[in-house]
Amino acid sequence: MPRIRVTLCICVCLAVVFALSRFTSGDDIADRAHKLQFSSIVLDTHDDTTQRFFTNNFDLGKRNPEGHVDIPRMKEGGMNAIFFSIWIDGRVMGPPAIQKALDQIDAVRENVHKYPKDIVLARTAEDVRRAHTQGKIAALMGVEGGHMIGNDIRMVRIFADLGVRYMTLSHFYNDEWADSSTDKPAHNGLTDFGKDIVREMNRQGMLVDISHVSDKTFYDALEISKAPLIASHSSCRALCNHVRDMSDDMIKALAAKGGVIQINYEKSFIDQAYKDAYDKETGGVVQHLSELTKNCNNDEACISREMAKLQEKLTAEGKLPHVSWERIVDHIDHAVKLVGADHVGLGSDFDGADMPEGMEDCSKLPKITEALLRKGYPEGDIRKILGENTLRIMEQAERVSRELKAAQ
Ligand SMILES: [Zn+2]
Repeated sequence: MPRIRVTLCICVCLAVVFALSRFTSGDDIADRAHKLQFSSIVLDTHDDTTQRFFTNNFDLGKRNPEGHVDIPRMKEGGMNAIFFSIWIDGRVMGPPAIQKALDQIDAVRENVHKYPKDIVLARTAEDVRRAHTQGKIAALMGVEGGHMIGNDIRMVRIFADLGVRYMTLSHFYNDEWADSSTDKPAHNGLTDFGKDIVREMNRQGMLVDISHVSDKTFYDALEISKAPLIASHSSCRALCNHVRDMSDDMIKALAAKGGVIQINYEKSFIDQAYKDAYDKETGGVVQHLSELTKNCNNDEACISREMAKLQEKLTAEGKLPHVSWERIVDHIDHAVKLVGADHVGLGSDFDGADMPEGMEDCSKLPKITEALLRKGYPEGDIRKILGENTLRIMEQAERVSRELKAAQ
């Protein structure tokens, strides 16, 4: 019967089209994610790779068997802008802290200059965009801890002149003028001198970074700063109750003044069960790091090696739970639902933290983009999270700097 045959044919055809559309839509998202990742500015605001420049066997231009970041893996993951962290132990203060910070600034500049075809130093949002147009990686610097100015406000200007674009007000310990989230309060937030430091950072166009600081320091900085704040590597306390993360109220206050929270991938900052077990086994991140620093005689490579070794051992013994890279996406999604896609970004803490499974290094970054597409995020929002939000607040800080200098 022709009519039955036609109906049957239509049914079969529809089934085939439906099956194909399901198949292609799956592939389509992976394809879209790839295109999106490799056409966007993907800016990571916190990487401790600088410490590796001081080890003999690390080469930024080659694929290294260890660590999370180098030029080949950045290219593979589409990460084309990076903040190299300038960091030394928060208990080193005064002139020795300045000296060590300068050593690290020099190391970043020298290592970047070795590979001019691939990577170039950037100071401004415009520099980052230019590097992207030229197909090069943009290298920026952030000082992680106010102790590195040696209690001397002039160092803010000098660091800015050398290319430092943000400064974290404290690290794990209080410095002379700002309380840390992982130390006993000593200053009730920012001292008057600390507030002057924030004003000077505004004048220099240096982003004020509130990762690591106590809640009171955060609110003080938020009140004083004329430019939006950045949390260069912090996650959401609502999902993992760690003092290094931000409460929903803090994220809302940060966003209300135009700021951005850059999600940190460290396992103990993104997964509650892991954090609880890690605290039980090691006494928490500050105590653990302090012990390792002593045992390793301040050798950074030894500290991260020993930390990874212990963490692997405890995971193998079942004392630490497995953590999936998907927790990173949960934190991004929580922050976006709370304050919108204009106020969320990426601050991995690569080379300074324990990465969750599936995010072994920066080559795995496209997974985040694909996961956000699968959640239905518009491409424009994903581009903002990948890097455009950070560029926007850099531009705002640059504008505030121009205005403040013009008003003098
Ligand atoms: Zn940090």
